[in-house]
Amino acid sequence: MTGIDHSEQWFNRAQEVTPGGVNSPVRAFRAVGGRPAFMASARGPYLTDVDGTEYVDLVCSWGPMILGHAHPAVVEAVRAAAGRGTSYGAPTPGEVELAEEIAARTPVDRVRLVSSGTEATMSAIRLARGFTGRAKVVKFAGCYHGHVDALLAAAGSGVATFALPDTPGVTGAAAGDTLVLPYNDVGAVEEAFAEYGGQIACVITEACPANMGVVPPIPDFNRLLKSLCERYGALLVIDEVLTGFRVSRSGWYGLEGVAGDLVTFGKVMGGGLPAAAFGGRAEVMDQLAPVGPVYQAGTLSGNPLATAAGLATLRNATEDVYATIDQAAATVARAATEALAKEGVPHRLQVAGNLFSVFFTDAAVGDFAAAQRQDTRAFAAFFHEALRRGVYLPPSAYEAWFLSAAHDDAALERVVEALPHAARAAAAVQG
Ligand SMILES: *Cc1c(COP(=O)(O)O)cnc(C)c1O
Repeated sequence: MTGIDHSEQWFNRAQEVTPGGVNSPVRAFRAVGGRPAFMASARGPYLTDVDGTEYVDLVCSWGPMILGHAHPAVVEAVRAAAGRGTSYGAPTPGEVELAEEIAARTPVDRVRLVSSGTEATMSAIRLARGFTGRAKVVKFAGCYHGHVDALLAAAGSGVATFALPDTPGVTGAAAGDTLVLPYNDVGAVEEAFAEYGGQIACVITEACPANMGVVPPIPDFNRLLKSLCERYGALLVIDEVLTGFRVSRSGWYGLEGVAGDLVTFGKVMGGGLPAAAFGGRAEVMDQLAPVGPVYQAGTLSGNPLATAAGLATLRNATEDVYATIDQAAATVARAATEALAKEGVPHRLQVAGNLFSVFFTDAAVGDFAAAQRQDTRAFAAFFHEALRRGVYLPPSAYEAWFLSAAHDDAALERVVEALPHAARAAAAVQG
């Protein structure tokens, strides 16, 4: 260390030109305090910041990097694609190949590529409304589907009342067709359909919620959503932006087998570049322009660098890769709970495939209200001590921890050594 804190300098500069110094709020560390590390490079399971400090990365770009950072096959594919030109505004073979790769692994027949998960869910909702000729959308509290106006809605008072805007800038009109229900609450969904069934275009749900921490669906919850949607002529939109191609080669669908009428993808399928998608059966997807009347478009949709990175990632994600991630996740999850238990810190591990999160509460977390009962101060202390010891956890208590196939024994060893110290720091603030 030179004594100069380059991250601090960059953060100060950033705050002059960018709100909060970041381009996505969670990166600013507001949930844990302190200032963020600015990153300079990454390789395998490691991030290196602008001061030369190396961290074992348990964020993995919030999911995409299942092969680890700068995987040679991905880097080479992107390099080769860049040499052929970065965008044409015309169709390319890579788009077809990526769509085929997605359709082969999931229940969707037709795929439309976009550039972000937000765009995917926004477009899926528009298509569901266009297809059904209905306006209303059911979503669940604590499920995140990107920053789509209609989906940034907070629950009104009582079950089956219409939502209120969750942020300034979203109008009452944009939120007013959204019904926000508690997650895992079968009765609430039945009640909403009984009251508004003929007006509901779709139910949108995370395949397995992981944006309020990991909150697995109760057995058959997704299946029940599917059958209620069928009964009332609504579509089920399953959001696999986070789970898709991460929890298995077919995403959550590979574990549970419930087919959404529409499914959204992102994160892993772009291999760290901006690519996302939505898909479904031909009858629904062919309502999209230019075949059908529902408009949707994108200048950089199916960008050749993004499709190259996505294809290289999916094609290198063998069964071995998933087995390695599963094992690495189990190792870290066990180490975290053992460390917290030893220090007497109330906590709860929730696991879904290779996704997991640690809630700083001892009660089971089945919905967003329960997730909000955790001790975020204890988490912040835990986070900062881990960071000080070279482990980069998600900077919020409401996030999953992400592993990759590059997390080898050496990287895991560092995590396992850091966690007891982090647990001690958490115990200390709880007094
Ligand atoms: C990340 C995420 C999104 C939003 O994707 P962006 O690419 O950030 O717009 C949507 N849904 C889920 C489930 C996500 O995890």
